[in-house]
Amino acid sequence: MITILSGGTGTPKLLQGIIRLIKPSDINVVVNTLENNYFSGVYVAADIDSVMYTLAGIINEDTWYGIKGDTFITNKTLKDIGCEELLKIGDKDRAVKIQKTLLMERYPLSEAVDIQRKKLGIKSKIIPMSNQNPQIEIITPEGSLEFHEFLIEHRTEPEVLDIKYNKVDPAPGLIESIEDSDMVIIGPSNPITSVGPIISTIKVRKALRNSHVVAVSPIIGYQPVSGPAGKFMDALGHEVSSWGVADLYQDFLDKFYIDLKDYHQQNKIEKLISEVVVTNTNMNNIEDKMMLAKNILGEN
Ligand code: GDP
Repeated sequence: MITILSGGTGTPKLLQGIIRLIKPSDINVVVNTLENNYFSGVYVAADIDSVMYTLAGIINEDTWYGIKGDTFITNKTLKDIGCEELLKIGDKDRAVKIQKTLLMERYPLSEAVDIQRKKLGIKSKIIPMSNQNPQIEIITPEGSLEFHEFLIEHRTEPEVLDIKYNKVDPAPGLIESIEDSDMVIIGPSNPITSVGPIISTIKVRKALRNSHVVAVSPIIGYQPVSGPAGKFMDALGHEVSSWGVADLYQDFLDKFYIDLKDYHQQNKIEKLISEVVVTNTNMNNIEDKMMLAKNILGEN
């Protein structure tokens, strides 16, 4: 069995390769919940839904958010009648979010997600990082912003001075999943706001230190492939590079995959992580995703 720690964009790309190589029922995916919140009356767990849609084969790969081919009739109607729709939620995607919201009246998030993934025919387990509600603040010169305010209303433009979030207890089964796995894979996800919250508790770090952990760098060259990871790393005083990511994971990481473009950082990173693999980590198509997944799973 393997456990994969995931955010909502980079790691799902790698997951598309992994699920073609090993039995889905042997895969557990632990997903970030830091940005979860209510929007337009529904509970939005963006990274969980992206992982769920990826595993169900219905993810919108243009945005890594929502369902491919979705329509936006409800979104337009809500706007027409004066509702603020901070997030552009598709109709089918909204149906899933409504169901999750209703399930959460009776069950904790982890059980609601387990019911949903089974209904979508997903054999892998999806484990939210926590059933508690984390709070995140992005501190900018304009004041403190909630994650989606920063991401969508402000289009990640403001300078980031600090990022604050509270630690939350791991969801049931998370620690056991890490402990029972032959390998834990930290996919290429935002090390500050996606992986950071998952590994922020002492219990999770301890379980990782006792496991075989590999990670793929989300930074190629000196910038992330997408998203605000670089801005967030910089704000917290971390070098925006694969070395900077290695520095964050060094106390538990056994093997680190960095991109061909970063070959010159290999020696420096080997001072932190015992094994560094230089390979193509830029996943533009299914061949790239499968090649990287095979490399990690040791199938080539
Ligand atoms: P975010 O909240 O949008 O940052 O979403 P994630 O936590 O999933 O992080 C996305 C991270 O994945 C970003 O830091 C990207 O640099 C990284 N990423 C996206 N696509 C790729 C890829 O093809 N290869 C690698 N190495 N990283 C990627």
